[in-house]
Amino acid sequence: MTTLGLTGGIGSGKTAAAARLAEKPGVRIVFADDVAKRLMVEDPAVRDAVRQRFGAEAYREDGTLDRAHLASRVFGDEVELAALNAIVHPAVRRAMLAAIESARASGVRLLVYEAALIFETGADQILDHVAVVDAPEAVRIQRATARDGATPEAVRTRMARQMDPAEMRRRANSVLENGGPVAELHAQVDALYERLLSPEASPGASGEPPSA
Ligand code: ATP
Repeated sequence: MTTLGLTGGIGSGKTAAAARLAEKPGVRIVFADDVAKRLMVEDPAVRDAVRQRFGAEAYREDGTLDRAHLASRVFGDEVELAALNAIVHPAVRRAMLAAIESARASGVRLLVYEAALIFETGADQILDHVAVVDAPEAVRIQRATARDGATPEAVRTRMARQMDPAEMRRRANSVLENGGPVAELHAQVDALYERLLSPEASPGASGEPPSA
């Protein structure tokens, strides 16, 4: 089995690339955002830590997470955000490792981990290959505003808090250019899929015959 990390900044097209991969045989996708949201509700240790740090108001009476409250606490506050990340990231990492093992045991051929933060959390050290999805800034702003109804300024503010795309591109194993029509993204995703699943690309394949 091969593991692929899919990352990129806001509005870059990570989810669009993941959706294309999801159509292919042998692929399982793990969305880091979904994992984090689930753990904040379902993992007792994470819940306790969030409650302790951010107060009982972080959860509603029915046990669901009060996302708006939490967002208002961490938005624009680096110390608070770092505190939340210190609670959530290790749990997400454990869940990712468990997801990799479970995928391996289920005969999955390509486990895809879609996450805005891959280099920042060190997940790249666990994954076989990291692909960054990227598009010109103006295109990303246009797509993100159209999708979320957010203002361009709000999108720019979020962008400014993310890793510089040039740095992501430098650290990635491959880059999916998403400045054009979605068909062009799909063609690159298809080629990456073929490349990652070709026998020569499988992790550990050295081309050398096994030694006796
Ligand atoms: P975020 O991190 O903000 O969630 P993302 O990287 O997952 O973003 P997507 O949600 O995949 O990005 O893409 C952003 C928006 O742009 C979506 O509405 C998506 O449908 C659209 N989009 C993605 N790629 C293209 C493309 N090549 N052409 C037109 N629209 C696109």
